[in-house]
Amino acid sequence: MESWVIAMVFAGVVVVAAVVGVAVTTRSVIRGVFGGGDVFGASTSGGGGSSGGSSGGSSGGSSGGSSGGSSGGDLFVGLADAALRATAESGREELARMTSVLREDVAELRSRSESAAVNTALTRATQHVEAFASGGQSHLYRATAAMAEAGRLLAPTGRPACLFNPAHGPASVEVDWSPAGSMPRRVPVCAEDAARITAGQPPRVRQVPTDVGPRPYFAASHLYADWVLGWYAGEDPYLTARLLAGTDLGAHLPDRIQGRRESGSDNPMGTFGTVHP
Ligand SMILES: [Zn+2]
Repeated sequence: MESWVIAMVFAGVVVVAAVVGVAVTTRSVIRGVFGGGDVFGASTSGGGGSSGGSSGGSSGGSSGGSSGGSSGGDLFVGLADAALRATAESGREELARMTSVLREDVAELRSRSESAAVNTALTRATQHVEAFASGGQSHLYRATAAMAEAGRLLAPTGRPACLFNPAHGPASVEVDWSPAGSMPRRVPVCAEDAARITAGQPPRVRQVPTDVGPRPYFAASHLYADWVLGWYAGEDPYLTARLLAGTDLGAHLPDRIQGRRESGSDNPMGTFGTVHP
């Protein structure tokens, strides 16, 4: 056998041994997290690779590491299950946070409304919010689209929604704004935010809850793509991508807009022109 073949075989053996060692140790940790047996005993024996949890001193009548001989297949199914459980739990938390954001948006608009037409739009928005809370992802866009309609009834300025917080309603003016480290652009804002900027104060940016605390919606999660697209329903859909270019959310918007177009969504699509015309 030539030397390079021997080297390859040797390398393969080393890799397999390393994978088995890491996998057994990982299983031990996962057992600990999800209520399995003796974590530390199993970890100690994991380095040896095959003797499972038969470690002497701690046997004390418990079932100990009796599953130490389970197959590699079981191991990886267990790992996959654990990953899925963690993902599902994270998804439920994100859904709950986004639902709370939507309910606050509805409440803010309702607090300014004395009109039956506005209330009708907000009732429709609320139905979409609750459908979204039940797992209907497509209702996110429809919820904020209905809220945007309510906003236009409240303040028919003919302009897009305030970029800093679309629940402020349609904009009154445009101001220069630069997301951190990005180029300046003209953005639509409500009268109150424009006045704050003129006075040297920060605008009232919509903060949303995340697992690391409140963040501006455009720095929170790509999941807010449909949220902001709904608020700008009826506008050139690529407007949001131009206005939010340079933010975390802005980076996801062109793909999401394209995805909605390919799925036959209900808003007409323009072309993605220059960010700074
Ligand atoms: Zn505003």
